Amino acid sequence: MLKPLKEACGVFGAQNFEHKPVFPHIYWGLRAQNHRGHQSHGFLTFHNNFHVHRDLDLVPKIKKEEIQGWLNRLPGYVGIGSIRYTTSGGTDEQSLVKGAQPILAQSEKRGVGISFNGNIVNNFGLKRELEKRFPSFSCECDAEVICRKLLMELVENDDLASSVRTCMKELEGAFSIAGVTQNGELFAFKDPHGIRPLCCGCSEDRKTYAVSSETVGLDINGFEQCFEINPGELVIASKDGFVRNQLVRGEKKAFCCFEFAYFSRPDSTIGNKHVYEIREDFGRNLGREYSEIAEKADIIMSIPETGNDAAYGLHEETGVRWERASRRHRYVTERAFILLSRERFTTIDRKINILDRRISGKTIAVVEDSIVRGDTTKVIIEKLRKKGAKKVHVFITFPRITSPCFYGIDMATYNELIGSRYGAEEIAERIGADTVNYQSIDGLVRATGMKKDELCLGCVTGKYPTPLAQKLADEMKEKFDRGFKETGRIYEIMA
Ligand code: SF4
Repeated sequence: MLKPLKEACGVFGAQNFEHKPVFPHIYWGLRAQNHRGHQSHGFLTFHNNFHVHRDLDLVPKIKKEEIQGWLNRLPGYVGIGSIRYTTSGGTDEQSLVKGAQPILAQSEKRGVGISFNGNIVNNFGLKRELEKRFPSFSCECDAEVICRKLLMELVENDDLASSVRTCMKELEGAFSIAGVTQNGELFAFKDPHGIRPLCCGCSEDRKTYAVSSETVGLDINGFEQCFEINPGELVIASKDGFVRNQLVRGEKKAFCCFEFAYFSRPDSTIGNKHVYEIREDFGRNLGREYSEIAEKADIIMSIPETGNDAAYGLHEETGVRWERASRRHRYVTERAFILLSRERFTTIDRKINILDRRISGKTIAVVEDSIVRGDTTKVIIEKLRKKGAKKVHVFITFPRITSPCFYGIDMATYNELIGSRYGAEEIAERIGADTVNYQSIDGLVRATGMKKDELCLGCVTGKYPTPLAQKLADEMKEKFDRGFKETGRIYEIMA
């Protein structure tokens, strides 16, 4: 996907029980998941004390002669890492530096570090409360609020499980967290709705245990996946494996359905399926739902990378040739949706090369994963028209996004969403396509293999799994329909 959608974050944590340094595992776990956040990265290890390194941009390549220096700076047999795209707090350089994770909170007796993927909807209310105890917050980020809240509970309760349980009850939103305590324990937990992914794995010899946002973080380390953490569950690594503790039960499951269409890597596994298999099904669904339009196309073309698997499915369903007529410039790696708006247009234009001899004079079925603002799809269509495409029909695997996200994807206003104002026909007109064909919500749900009531579908239905998000969305929708334009993320301006 090349569109201006902004992503959340990725986390990784590891503990070795044979006194081997875990930094290399964390490093590769993050490298495999760098698609989840480009703005900053960081590592935290524990050996007698906490050791932290945070910086902006992608996880760097490390030269052979630099490895020992990194191991010296980040010693320890337990640690966590983070890659981040900001969905709370400022986006200027200073805010990005301050908001880089992992976050560490320490008091005289206790200390805890966390890496966090998600977004806290009641961040500001909690922050005001916590400020009475910790007056100086270093940034506006929700990760610092969670970390301090957890520390406060640990100081009061002296027990990780009851402290995490209190956090699960008082924080509203999405949070998949990997953490390390000052006792050198690796732990991880998920919010009671289980909105973001988080899984556990181990090395073949059962000496190293790890947690990762996506399974690819385990794969790259040669670890096998043990299980996906349940909503409301806390896990703590031990030399005998993970100790699992179901702290909160009975909340509605609400796994983010956008993970399937865009965020997760195609070779990651969610449930029992690889993400690419689900995307292929998306393509087959589109072929069935819009057979008349799809079968008349001369060629199918995908917007790499996330459109590729669905394009294959559409090709299988319709028999129309999938022409690899769009190629990505391999080393132009920025994901457009995590760029600042002024940078997007040129980056999108630079990233994709369209092979004109393959498309000139043809009717093209373009497969794309989603339309958020519409500006990036428009750039692609303009490029296709310039190269001589006769007709351009756009097939979108994710249903029309009509409502903002409160849970860690930075599409946090109605105003920025083209689908909040316009239907498919008007969108086609605005982006220069002949037609825009969205996969149905039911088709999407079926392909995931999950039940509809186990998924978050907030951004395509306007129905959210948590009450404050629903209230804020409803209030803002009413204003938006009367012509009001949000000046910032709903959960920040309405706080
Ligand atoms: S609102 Fe949409 S993007 Fe946000 S968590 Fe729910 S499904 Fe995912």
